[in-house]
Amino acid sequence: MTLRTDALEADIHYDGAVRSLHVRAAAADALAPFEGEIRPDGEAHLLEGPLSTANAKALQDAFEVLRPQLISRHRTSVGTGDRIGLAGPGQAAAFAAHGQGVMPVLAQQSIREMDRLGRSARTVMDEAVFGLLEAGWEGGFGADCDHIKTTEGIDRGLEAGFVMFTLDPGDHVADVTGGVTAADAASLPWDALEDTLEQTLARYADLTLDVGHSRIEVTEQDVITAAVKYGAAVAEAIRLYRHAMENARHEIEIEFAVDETAWLTTFFEHFYLATELKRLGASWFSFAPRYVDGFEKGLDFLGDPEELRRNLEAHHAISEQFGGYRISLHSGSDKFSIYPLCVEATQGHVHLKTSGTSYLCALEVIAAHDPELFATIWEISRASYVKARASYQVSAHEDRTPTTLEGVDLTELIRSDDARQILHVGYGDSLNAALPSGESIHDRFLRVVAAHQEEHTAVVAEHIGRHLAPFSAGAGA
Ligand SMILES: [Zn+2]
Repeated sequence: MTLRTDALEADIHYDGAVRSLHVRAAAADALAPFEGEIRPDGEAHLLEGPLSTANAKALQDAFEVLRPQLISRHRTSVGTGDRIGLAGPGQAAAFAAHGQGVMPVLAQQSIREMDRLGRSARTVMDEAVFGLLEAGWEGGFGADCDHIKTTEGIDRGLEAGFVMFTLDPGDHVADVTGGVTAADAASLPWDALEDTLEQTLARYADLTLDVGHSRIEVTEQDVITAAVKYGAAVAEAIRLYRHAMENARHEIEIEFAVDETAWLTTFFEHFYLATELKRLGASWFSFAPRYVDGFEKGLDFLGDPEELRRNLEAHHAISEQFGGYRISLHSGSDKFSIYPLCVEATQGHVHLKTSGTSYLCALEVIAAHDPELFATIWEISRASYVKARASYQVSAHEDRTPTTLEGVDLTELIRSDDARQILHVGYGDSLNAALPSGESIHDRFLRVVAAHQEEHTAVVAEHIGRHLAPFSAGAGA
């Protein structure tokens, strides 16, 4: 597909697996911001250049639709990560076909994933830009620098032009499952919180919390527990928030996320977090609490859907008491059975994040065209699953999956629960490893997928499209 301005037109050109940028202009000056070889093309000039950061920036300067936008201006949004940098066209095609009314976040990666794959935030942005150009997407997109835990992570995202910052103080959430007393609150960072335990207790004394479907009497013990569990996380969230606000040279939007912790966020704890963050001057458009159990990578929801509905309704009701921010669902891929209820319970004021599911689509292409590469990835993923599962909510049993793939239907394998989760979790170790020949798995993976990009785009578009339809319906499209 081609994007056009008055001065030039651009597209991504494929020569087998080798991609390049083509920019055509009547006036040679219009090509000056781009790097590459210029040759005459009829009356016009054609530049052929690399998919470099310089060219991505030049494209963003030329085409407004290639600059990320604030998704907070839309009520319903879905983010799709892209671990390999070739899924953008399929994701954009999914939004075009099934995502009417849903704002896409097409540049999205957590700092953890970037580090695991050795990618910079700017690489993630560049790949999104080239993917959107390849798709000819003009519907706008958001860019989410996800799960940031350090000010340095914020700097990286700002530098690369991200506009959405998901601040994650999860490492500062305390385990209170053994019970806590007021004495445990003594070590909280009260200076940073500009507060004391007495003032905290007074702020929430005799509160009755309305969560839509029920009312909750808040006890002093609830307040102490919330403060001990989340007090240090509030201080950390504010530290990150202030850093982002002080250093941003363009308009940005904030999500706070505590979803990657082991302990559920109770309704009062959500209320406490929102109250404290607001008291300390933060504003945000999206919040990800830790929900009820059942969100696992790559699988449909495994918990009780009615419990989740009541959970989401309450979180949504609390957000409304603070002016209305959206409830953010992470690890959201492949949860087809619950999307309609997620939209209903939040009245469409919701953000869904998927990250690894597009990688599984790429694996289907690998399995079809390079079974030897797939077998190596399978072996590495299976071996690394046991060690990697500590950092995820996962339940796959590797002993239920085949050790050798002879005679195995690979597409069926990739779509089966255990294997899906193992492959989902094992991407980092796989892509960073080498084949027995010494060849980089990452390089060969990209080459095979790029050589079959049309097929890959179709697989991604179909799979992501299934995610979007219920959100589009809820967005009133
Ligand atoms: Zn998350």
